[in-house]
Amino acid sequence: MTNPKKYDEEVGSFSIVSCRDRRNPNFQVWGAMSDLGCRKKKIKGFKEWVIERMNEELDSEQNQAIKKLYIIIRNMLNDLRAQMIKSGHKDFDHDLGPGQWVKFCMDFVKKPGCGIEVQIPEEIRRVFPNIRTPFYLRFPYEEEEVGGLSLNPDGTTNELRVNLKHFMSDFEQYKNVLQHELQHIVDKGTSPDYTQNNLLLRYLGYMCHPGEIAAYAKEFARRYYKLFPQDKELDFEKLKSYFFQDQSKFGPTGTILANYIKFGERTEDLVGKYKLDNKTKNELKTCYDSFVFTLKRSFLYFKQTSP
Ligand SMILES: [Zn+2]
Repeated sequence: MTNPKKYDEEVGSFSIVSCRDRRNPNFQVWGAMSDLGCRKKKIKGFKEWVIERMNEELDSEQNQAIKKLYIIIRNMLNDLRAQMIKSGHKDFDHDLGPGQWVKFCMDFVKKPGCGIEVQIPEEIRRVFPNIRTPFYLRFPYEEEEVGGLSLNPDGTTNELRVNLKHFMSDFEQYKNVLQHELQHIVDKGTSPDYTQNNLLLRYLGYMCHPGEIAAYAKEFARRYYKLFPQDKELDFEKLKSYFFQDQSKFGPTGTILANYIKFGERTEDLVGKYKLDNKTKNELKTCYDSFVFTLKRSFLYFKQTSP
């Protein structure tokens, strides 16, 4: 796994991530990457979205259904991993090439296309009619396919993809990524717009998309909950100091957290460096506030849904 680079480097050279970070398991692909010119549309109505989210009931039917689906898929991943451990399987030392992939699929998945059908209970399908059956948990080998939830043209989804590169050594990270992807059933996500040459705008459009804020907040809230399960609420300062002690503990996701913090706390530096207008400056601040708010709210999800 690539170590996250240091926070103090220049923005653009590290922290606002480059194209190579498509391999980062946190850049999950939701459908095509060609949603051009979408940033403005997504930012419009952003504050309204935050207010809407604040007023939602936390212990909704949707949260319960997501929790159930998480347990089903996590158990499937657990079983697969146990089988691999039993047979002495080591982590793949690079992205699976077609040969290694075919062998892995034949040995462990035993299904064409390397997809295992997830049995979705009727109660979950009723809550999420956008989940189409058969729904597959699939293990791709292309390096871009680091994890993602499929999006069909009609808005349905029928596949969750997981790249197994670090499956043996960093299973916790897979659970975090699984939380992220499942949140996209509720909050549709997006991908960085690689045609946008301004790196700040590229990642602003991606990380500040409401669906990505929701998904990343869920992912980081799970981390926090696993670290400090006794806390009554998420203390963002505590999360930051834990994070800055050793960013490598967060794996590649650390870059994303560093960027959210930077959006809100080093806004002026970014404005100067990227010559941002006032509107974009406000978007950065709103993005940060929304992220912190959603993070605290997501922590309550774990408090309420965990035994
Ligand atoms: Zn996402």
